[in-house]
Amino acid sequence: MLSFLRSDLSRLVSYTPHPGGSSGPGDDAPQVIDRLDTNECPFDLPADLKQKLSWHWQQIIESNRYPDGSHQALKEAIAQYISESAGAPTPWLTTAHLSVSSGSDELIRSLLIATCLGGEGSILVADPTFSMYAITAKTLGIPVVTIGRSEANFAMDVQAAQAAIASTQTPPIRVVFVVHPNSPTANALTAAEIDWLRSLPESILVVIDEAYFEFSGQTLVNDLPQHPNWVILRTFSKAFRLAAHRVGYGIAHPELAATLEKVRLPYNLPSFSLAAAQLAMAHRNLLLQVIPQIVAEREKLYGAIAPHPALRVWKSDANFLFLRLQNPAHTLSEAAAEAALDHIFISLKQQGTLVRKTCGGLRITIGTPEENQRTWERLQKIRLPSIEKDSLN
Ligand SMILES: *Cc1c(COP(=O)(O)O)cnc(C)c1O
Repeated sequence: MLSFLRSDLSRLVSYTPHPGGSSGPGDDAPQVIDRLDTNECPFDLPADLKQKLSWHWQQIIESNRYPDGSHQALKEAIAQYISESAGAPTPWLTTAHLSVSSGSDELIRSLLIATCLGGEGSILVADPTFSMYAITAKTLGIPVVTIGRSEANFAMDVQAAQAAIASTQTPPIRVVFVVHPNSPTANALTAAEIDWLRSLPESILVVIDEAYFEFSGQTLVNDLPQHPNWVILRTFSKAFRLAAHRVGYGIAHPELAATLEKVRLPYNLPSFSLAAAQLAMAHRNLLLQVIPQIVAEREKLYGAIAPHPALRVWKSDANFLFLRLQNPAHTLSEAAAEAALDHIFISLKQQGTLVRKTCGGLRITIGTPEENQRTWERLQKIRLPSIEKDSLN
């Protein structure tokens, strides 16, 4: 026990990165493993783009020099991409609306530092959702208020959210985090949820995490000029295939963007990551060509799982599916459901498919057509309690 450490950190459970990674499969897992647990794009960069990047590393990047801490060239490319994908003209958008970070995870932390630190505010999240908001808040000693979601479609309990905001708790809620579409449940924000976000006072920051924008095709970017209290987060880790390089960006009112620039570390992005992100922007049309295929594969896997008597799967706006056990009459206890989920998770892993077990369900990333085919075949091989039948008896 090191007594100089903050006592609350000893109780904090950190984010668990997936065990496989590029260092190879663990335990008793077979040699070939389908890594469908972290929502990456299943395809690496094309070989010729990797070659271009290697050339850049060898010929352009000086290892002894600091990277470009202004990210100006990358910001210009990102601004162009945002414009062309916004679905409406964005004459208001400039590079002053952008902040680039080491993964969008860094932006989450910068936002918390810029708003709630030092007892100034709490954050609101609707569970189940991306765990990093609450984890990062706790590392900074920032209180987290949690509300629920509808079982049917995972829309937020807006009434509970409104009540939490109206309460006289201290510190007051300063930031609301939403994901559009949500992880792990894959649903985009509903019109009612968006209306509610629009109704929030300007004293509350609304963080809209669009990590899966390229798969959903839905964005709230065009709302930004009317809402100086909104920020949109994006990442290069998913559709743009750069999870290894850690690049994300935020789109916000210039005053907020400037504050994010102030609180970040001066050289937060290595030169190699900057080069990779610029390459991805320059070749975005090529990289995004696989999105329709991934979306079609998602629909195919959804269609295969939907009739399964023991599994419940939800419609997805992202590149993953969320499943739970069928439990219509609530005959299955929480412990039994958890044990059955464990059984599915372990059986899939033993067969060579790694998925994420989270929030009382399984989140399965859409992979290559071959991987998805194997996911379905392996799921079918698992013997599951037929809950529906039991509940009819
Ligand atoms: C994957 C993901 C991110 C991306 O995080 P990076 O730090 O950019 O890799 C952000 N938000 C959500 C909800 C995600 O699922």
